[in-house]
Amino acid sequence: MNIDLEIFSPVQQINSPLFDSHGVKVFIKRDDLIHPMISGNKWRKLKYVLKKAQTEDKTHLVTFGGAYSNHLMATAAAAAKFGYKSTGIVRGEEVDNDTLFLCRLHGMKLQFTDRDSYRDKPALFNQYFGNDEQAFFIDEGGASAEGAKGCSELVNELTETYDHFFCACGTGTTAAGIINGLNDHQLKTKFNAVPVFKNGGFIREEIDRFLTAPANYDIHTDYHFGGYGKANDELINFIKQFVPATGILIEPVYTGKMMYALYDLITRGHFKPGSRILAIHSGGIWGLLGMKEKFK
Ligand SMILES: *Cc1c(COP(=O)(O)O)cnc(C)c1O
Repeated sequence: MNIDLEIFSPVQQINSPLFDSHGVKVFIKRDDLIHPMISGNKWRKLKYVLKKAQTEDKTHLVTFGGAYSNHLMATAAAAAKFGYKSTGIVRGEEVDNDTLFLCRLHGMKLQFTDRDSYRDKPALFNQYFGNDEQAFFIDEGGASAEGAKGCSELVNELTETYDHFFCACGTGTTAAGIINGLNDHQLKTKFNAVPVFKNGGFIREEIDRFLTAPANYDIHTDYHFGGYGKANDELINFIKQFVPATGILIEPVYTGKMMYALYDLITRGHFKPGSRILAIHSGGIWGLLGMKEKFK
């Protein structure tokens, strides 16, 4: 089977009096529209991982994630679409939620594991699937050189140039791939990474692991809102204004923090007038379902 998706990810301009008053133009790359389940950067990260599994004649994808992992959901849906079996090894005690429901619905088998064992993923893989010749290991979040390669292709799709890119960071694989893409095209665009967890400075090491050439980029570590999966009223209120004003869904775990950072930096005069800024909508809007309570 040919492992590919037709990429539909238009660039759209977002308007706001804030942008006008600071003389900047803001655009958003709609990777969230690539696929309803295999959304955003998750498809880009899986593409070459799945091709590698196919080359090695593996038919069973085994991967890892938390109970709200977009990567688990994307892997489950991609496995179903391209004819693989899939197993998700889930961190923590057995629970049920909308994400895991959608994983199961796509045929993924779920294996819950305690937080200590979860740390050593290759050991878990060997323990459960050491004897399964069809099993193929995919790291948590799809973090891999193949993942970065898929993400670099985002840059090929652009028909205009930008002064800045903004992107939310978890493992840093997406950031690394896009930075590599900018390098490949010899673009001067400044990449801005927004880590979504506390003390995000260490993301530089993670990003640098997958860079194909040294690069200069900025990391904005002050937009974690208390840590991974955490949110406060300020972030929720920002999302409550952004969605009806633009018609574009964002959520509190990744894209909400990234867009908040962008709006805040514009407010603070971080960008020269005339700047053209592209925000990457990395998908993940199902994450909203796990955070409904916070919107009450
Ligand atoms: C997984 C995810 C990210 C993080 O991507 P990394 O490559 O792990 O940095 C960003 N945004 C969304 C919506 C995600 O689901």
